[in-house]
Amino acid sequence: MNEEMRKYFTPPDLKAAKKRGKQDVSVLEFDQIPDEMKEVGKGKKYLIKTFGCQMNVHDSETIAGILELMGYESTECEEESDLILINTCAIRENAEDKVFGEIGRLKPLKVEKPELVLGMCGCMSQEESVVNRILQKHQHVDLIFGTHNIHRLPHLLMEALMSKEMVVEVWSKEGDIVENLPKIRQDGLKAWVNIMYGCDKFCTYCIVPYTRGKERSRRPEDVLAEVRELARKGYQEVTLLGQNVNAYGKDLTGRDYRFGDLMDDMRKIGIPRVRFTTSHPRDFDDHLIEVLAKRGNLVEHIHLPVQSGNNDILKIMARKYTRERFLELVRKIKRAIPDVVLTTDIIVGYPGETEEQFEDTLSLMKEVEFDSAFTFIYSPREGTPAAKMKDNVPQEVKKERLHRLNRLQDEISRKKNESLQGKVVEVLVEGESKKDPDVLSGRTRTNKLVNFYGPKHLIGRFAHVRITEPRTWTLKGEWMEESSAHQVGS
Ligand code: SF4
Repeated sequence: MNEEMRKYFTPPDLKAAKKRGKQDVSVLEFDQIPDEMKEVGKGKKYLIKTFGCQMNVHDSETIAGILELMGYESTECEEESDLILINTCAIRENAEDKVFGEIGRLKPLKVEKPELVLGMCGCMSQEESVVNRILQKHQHVDLIFGTHNIHRLPHLLMEALMSKEMVVEVWSKEGDIVENLPKIRQDGLKAWVNIMYGCDKFCTYCIVPYTRGKERSRRPEDVLAEVRELARKGYQEVTLLGQNVNAYGKDLTGRDYRFGDLMDDMRKIGIPRVRFTTSHPRDFDDHLIEVLAKRGNLVEHIHLPVQSGNNDILKIMARKYTRERFLELVRKIKRAIPDVVLTTDIIVGYPGETEEQFEDTLSLMKEVEFDSAFTFIYSPREGTPAAKMKDNVPQEVKKERLHRLNRLQDEISRKKNESLQGKVVEVLVEGESKKDPDVLSGRTRTNKLVNFYGPKHLIGRFAHVRITEPRTWTLKGEWMEESSAHQVGS
């Protein structure tokens, strides 16, 4: 990387990130698009390709909002695009491989259409090795920006349009909060709302604390105002987003307002469903459980990543809770909300994981009975502490463990779904099923997918559906006349 580039690119510094202090977070307001930039995209089309988590999906909605203020229109067609942005994910190596595959695949299009602007943003942009690889091997990329400077997009895009050089602006600073960013939400029914950014947990396998900066909470009044506005516009569901939502409010100086308080205030807003993701078991406090037990628009679904059921592995992962504390938390939640649906994330084959340690994960899974689980084989991420550990579990063993884990989870998921046989559930109808346009598809309060035959006017509304055919991952049901329906908390 040349000196000129270095001015704009400051790679994340792992040691510095670990020494995070209490320095204040600035809350900035998004400037209006300068007049001279409002017409830049007139008659032009943009396409955003999004990889990774909900945080990225929501960032893409913000990027779309900015681009449309600059006059761009969206398209799904690469050939007719004037701007293609790849919003990347760094969480797993195969996600990165896919992004490099995409960048390579788009090269002929760029050669054929040199005025096309090809850009990359998201978590991968925050990694020095990635930026270096693009600078060296993918010179057809025009623009790289990071997760902390999305609000700078109008200026960066202008630079990319005028310059022949690749424009790189990535900040390793711990991050500010930018309010009033425009958003083009993908859906008129369900919306994502950021409540906080970054993560300070430093789980040893995870790159997020380095790519997304330190934990910083949006002001409660800003979050509540955004949700009230969504309710006013007719949205039926919001999902509050953060890498670790349970840490919400810890960093707010001068007030004692935590995630439980925020959820309590959400109950007072006239939006039918409020979800949140993702929880860290360590910060899940009793006040939050007490508030969630009041229900109302707070749904009975908690995604609670456990990662492993063995204390030694949890320690090496730096998860900062034990199996016993996790199980105690689950007991408390189930006592307060008996019909709660718990889902989780699990990693198998962590460096040094023995058969016995893996069996502890299986036994925890049996004890908790999660309704579903996202299960992964461990693979090292460059730049994380775990990448320096000896990855000594053979791939075959990892695969076999994943298979056993999934088999057990499938059995539990099926049993859980079978318990809904004959029950009537409330479904937010999202649209036609992908496989059969005569079938409608929607989700319960607990986020289970339900398919049923029903009139199209139900799309966008709530329907009561009797479950007739529970399966492992989905439920089939029959629509009930609303007057005769009896809703259960599922
Ligand atoms: S809490 Fe989640 S985002 Fe934060 S370091 Fe751990 S796994 Fe990564």
